[in-house]
Amino acid sequence: IAASRVYAAKPHMAGTAGDLDTAKTFLAHLQEELQINSPSSDIPLYSAGSRESREATLNISSLDEPKAWIDVYYPILNSPLDHSLEILGDDGKPVWSAELEEVADETDPYAFKSANAVPTWHGISRGGQAEGKLIYAHYGRKEDYDALVEAGVDFSGKIVLTRYGGVFRGLKVKRAQELGAAAVLIYSDLRDDGTVTVENGYVPYPHGPARNPTSVQRGSVQFLSLYPGDPSTPGYPSYENSTRVEGGSKPTIPSLPISWVNAEVLLKHLEDGGDGPTVRLVNNVDEKITPIWNVMGVIPGHIKNEVVVLGAHRDAWVTGASDPISGTVSASEAIRGFGAMLKKGWRPLRTILIASWDGEEFGLIGSTEWGEDFSEWIKDHVVAYVNTDTSASGSSLKAAGSPLLAHLLRETAEQLPHPYSEERSLWDARKDTGTLFGEHINAEIAAMHVDELLAVDSIGVSPLGSGSDYTVFLQYHGVPSTDGGFTSALHDPVYHYHSIFDTQYWQELYGDPGFSRHVAIAKHIGLQVLRLSSDIILPFNTTHYSLELESYLNKVESIAATDSFDVDLSPLRESVHALQSASLELDSTKTKAERKLRKILKKLKKRHAIRRKIRGKVSKALCKLKKASFFAFWMDDMLIINSLKPSRHLIKAVQQVQAVNKRLIAFERGFISKDGIKDREWYKHLGVAPGKWLGYGATTFPGITEALTMDQNATAAAYEAGRLKDLIDNLVETIRL
Ligand code: GLU
Ligand code: CA
Ligand code: ZN
Ligand code: ZN
Repeated sequence: IAASRVYAAKPHMAGTAGDLDTAKTFLAHLQEELQINSPSSDIPLYSAGSRESREATLNISSLDEPKAWIDVYYPILNSPLDHSLEILGDDGKPVWSAELEEVADETDPYAFKSANAVPTWHGISRGGQAEGKLIYAHYGRKEDYDALVEAGVDFSGKIVLTRYGGVFRGLKVKRAQELGAAAVLIYSDLRDDGTVTVENGYVPYPHGPARNPTSVQRGSVQFLSLYPGDPSTPGYPSYENSTRVEGGSKPTIPSLPISWVNAEVLLKHLEDGGDGPTVRLVNNVDEKITPIWNVMGVIPGHIKNEVVVLGAHRDAWVTGASDPISGTVSASEAIRGFGAMLKKGWRPLRTILIASWDGEEFGLIGSTEWGEDFSEWIKDHVVAYVNTDTSASGSSLKAAGSPLLAHLLRETAEQLPHPYSEERSLWDARKDTGTLFGEHINAEIAAMHVDELLAVDSIGVSPLGSGSDYTVFLQYHGVPSTDGGFTSALHDPVYHYHSIFDTQYWQELYGDPGFSRHVAIAKHIGLQVLRLSSDIILPFNTTHYSLELESYLNKVESIAATDSFDVDLSPLRESVHALQSASLELDSTKTKAERKLRKILKKLKKRHAIRRKIRGKVSKALCKLKKASFFAFWMDDMLIINSLKPSRHLIKAVQQVQAVNKRLIAFERGFISKDGIKDREWYKHLGVAPGKWLGYGATTFPGITEALTMDQNATAAAYEAGRLKDLIDNLVETIRL
C-alpha cells in the first residue's frame, strides 16, 4: 500500500516529469533491495544507443554483482492540445457542445487533483478536425462494420460512433478509416458495466461503486496489428537521432474518446430517426520526439547466458493506481523478496533481469524499442519472460501464456493461497466474478461471463494475443511468456480503466481493499521467476505445446470443413504428430538427465557436511517467501555445484542438462519465421498472433486461420500450412539432436 501511494500519488504519463520521478523511485527501490551501492549521487541514466546503454545490456552475462540503470528511448509521442465536440444545426452553427472533461470532486482527492492534468484524448491519434453525419457502428468490430456495409451503409465522410469493448480500440478506428470515414468517437457504455450499476441501485463513483458517467477511457489508437512500438521506427530502436519513417501504424483520421454522458446525447439524436445529426470534432495534438525511461535491474545467476526477464510497465494515462501501478507494486514486492534472499547469500541459478517499462500505454513502446535494440542478445540469452500489467482491478484471476509455460502458470497458482481464503488456491480465483457487491448475481449470466472470459486450453491457460509488454518477447523473438493479474469481473465495483478515477482512493476502497490481490500476484510472479531461474531443467512443457498444436489444427480444419474449403492439412498434421513423439522422447531425456545429476549431487551431499550448513542458511531466507520453502532443495544443489571442485562425472551430467535445456529453449524460437505473418511482417511467430481484427485476443495458426476466414482463399491457406509445416519439421530435427 505504501509503494502504491507513492507511485499513484500524481499523474505520470510517459515522457512527463511525473513519469521520470517514478523511474527514479523504481531505480532507488532496485538499488536498495539488490544492495547496489551507487558510487555517487549520479543517476545511471543512459541514452539509448550510447556506449553506456549498449554495454549495460550486453554485459549482463559477465556481471558478478547486481546492477541497475535507466535506458532512455526517444519515440515520437503526442499529447493533447485542444479538442471539442459539437452537434451542428442546419445553419452550421453548434446547437450542442460536449463537456469533454471528467468531473471529479474532493471525495477522491487523487482524481480531483489530477482532473485536468491529462485531457481526454487518444494516444497516437491523428491531429486535426472533421465534420460529418454521425453514424452508429456498435462495438466497431470487423463484423459490425461488415454487417452495416452489407445493409448498404456508406461510411465515406461520416463520423462513426462506436462503443468500447470487444476489440482493441485502434481497430475500431482502422476499419472506419478503410471505409472512408472522417473520424471516430468511442464511448463507454453503461450497459457494459456488469451488475454494479445505478439501475441496480448503486451510486456512481466517488460516492459509490458504479461508473462515474463522466469517466472517459483514454488509450492508444495505434494500429498495433501492423507493429507495436514507436510508430516512427518499425523494427528498429528509437535512438535520439534514429531515422524516422511513416510506418502506417498511426491513423489517418482523428478520433476522440467520450463519456457516457456525452454519448447519451448523441445516441438520443440518432434514435430520433432519419439521418444522424451533423457533428464536428476537433482533436489538436502536439507531436514530438519524447524521452521515455525504462528502468532495468539485474540479479546475476550462476549461469550467465540464460536470463529470465520479469517485466511490468510503469507509465499510466493519469495516476493509474490499477493500470499499471498495481503491477508495478506487485513486481516491487517480488523484488523485495529476492532482496531478502540475496541478503542471506542466495544467488539464482540463472540470471534475472527486471524491467520497469515505460511508454506501454502509447503502444508497448519501452519494451518494444528495447526488444528491437537488443535482438541478437535476446535471441542468445533470454529463456523466458514473465509479465504483469494490471495486477489488481477486480476479483477474477487472469492467466495467459505460451503453452510451454501453461503448466508452470497453473502449478504455481495452485501452490499459492487464494487472497481471501486459506481453503482455496490462487488458481481457483480464475472463476471468481465478484461477491463484494454481489446481491444481483444471476447464476446464468455469471456462468456465461466466465466461459467467455476463459477462452482457455486444456489446462486452463489462454494463449497470448497482444495488449501488453510480452508482445516483443513472444511474437518477435519467440521467447515463451506469461501474463497474469486480477481483472474486473461481472459483479465487481466498476473499474474506471484509463480514466482519472483509476486512483489510489478507488483502489483502497473498492479495487483491492487490504491489497491482498497485489500480494497474491507478487507471490505468483515471484514463484514463476524463481522456478524459471532455478529449476535444473527449465520448467517448459513441450508435450503440452505439441498437443495444443493439434487442437489449433483441429480448429482450422473445422473452419475449412464448415466453409468447404479444399485444403489438405494432413502433411501438417503428420509433422505435428512427429513433433509430439519427438517431444515425448525429449521428456524421457529430460528425466534421465535430471535424475543423473541429482544422483551425483546426492552422493556429494552425503560426503560433504557442507550440506546442512548451507541448507540451513538458504532455507531460512526462502521461508521468508511464504510457500516458497520447497525451493531450498534446489538452491542447495546449486551452492554445492559451485562450492566443490567438480568431478568428471559431475561435469558430464551438467553438460547433459545443459544440452536438454538448449533444446527446450529452441522450442518456442522454432515458430519464428524471418518473413513473419502476411501483411504484418513484424509479427514473426507463426503459431500464435494477436488476431488481425481482435488486437488483444489471440489467433492460433494465424496464417491459415486468416487465409480461410478473411481472405477465403484455400490456396493461400495451403501455402501457410506449408510454411508452418517447414518450421515444425525443423523443430522436430532440433529437439531430436
Ligand atoms: N495496453 C495498452 C492499451 O490497451 C496499449 C496496448 C497497445 O497499444 O498495444 O491501450
Ligand atoms: Ca522501433
Ligand atoms: Zn497497463
Ligand atoms: Zn493501460
